[in-house]
Amino acid sequence: MKKHNFSAGPCILPQEVLKKASEAVINFNNLDLSLIEISHRSADFVAVMDNATNLVLELLDLKEKGYTALFLQGGASLEFLMVPYNLMKESGKAAYLDTGVWSAKALKEAKGLGEVIIVASSKDQNYNYIPKGYDISSDVDYFHCTSNNTIYGTQIKEFPKTDGLLVCDMSSDIFSRKLDFSQFDLIYAGAQKNMGPAGATLVVVKDEILGKTDRQIPSMLDYQVHISKDSMFNTPPVFAVYVSMLTLEWLKAKGGLEAIEKLNNAKAELLYNEIDNNPLFKGAAAKEDRSNMNVTFLLTDQSKKEVFDKMCKEAGINGLNGHRSVGGYRASIYNAMPIESIQVLVNLMKKL
Ligand SMILES: *Cc1c(COP(=O)(O)O)cnc(C)c1O
Repeated sequence: MKKHNFSAGPCILPQEVLKKASEAVINFNNLDLSLIEISHRSADFVAVMDNATNLVLELLDLKEKGYTALFLQGGASLEFLMVPYNLMKESGKAAYLDTGVWSAKALKEAKGLGEVIIVASSKDQNYNYIPKGYDISSDVDYFHCTSNNTIYGTQIKEFPKTDGLLVCDMSSDIFSRKLDFSQFDLIYAGAQKNMGPAGATLVVVKDEILGKTDRQIPSMLDYQVHISKDSMFNTPPVFAVYVSMLTLEWLKAKGGLEAIEKLNNAKAELLYNEIDNNPLFKGAAAKEDRSNMNVTFLLTDQSKKEVFDKMCKEAGINGLNGHRSVGGYRASIYNAMPIESIQVLVNLMKKL
């Protein structure tokens, strides 16, 4: 039996996507060749890249609004550097919201290229909430935030208004809810949390914001270079792009972001209700900032840990351990996670 996979990333993907992907590795499009042994410049693969980037813009409702979708490499971690390279002026400034380790890593890269203003931080409470009511000064080149804090289980529900550019790391909640995505000037996400296998990084960028820095940008770090080559400046991660395409097709067939958001809300509610009503558990994140993707919770009675872990193991639950910096448990309930798996977990919590 397939395990209930609560892993934070790489993580659960739809079963049918895995099946189609495995078939394409043997025989892609009835070519009698594998997806991963044909040229990325072949018509068959170019069609995959086109389909994947079109689906991204369609699902985010950004078609014909001046945005380009790119599939790059280097993970979200390379975007920490590419963003300031492309958007920060020489001796420029950028504003960052510090909501966790990923935000902190992002701003560290920006510091190497210019001045960084930390507008607010929740580090004082081990990042268990999202700071609010901060000011973003108008003279910064851009403002950067992390929409969902994978480790701590917090999520931004409302994004700040800013006159300048709004940049967001959406690695762990992209395609999970409907937002007005046109409020963002640049969005990036590693594929391996809600979209596909590790190895591809999605960047969605508003074309008009590029080419304004006076900085010399190395080719591989230059969004405009990648745009001019349709994400094929160098060999793209063909397998990761293909599987991402399959996941996006799956999502579209399910009804897109509006439909998946409803499911995601129901899934999260089921689990948070149990956490709040069961005296043996408590949530790790501030209630109003709780993530619908990564649910962090703790035992109130540590003596139950061994029994609960054993029950989970016997029920085929995988990847429930909390991140070492938070402890306890973390149920990552991304788009592909069926509500039935969450019910299995909730039943165990009731039984404990
Ligand atoms: C996982 C994660 C990252 C790091 O992604 P890589 O692709 O491993 O570089 C960055 N930001 C967030 C929010 C993440 O969840």
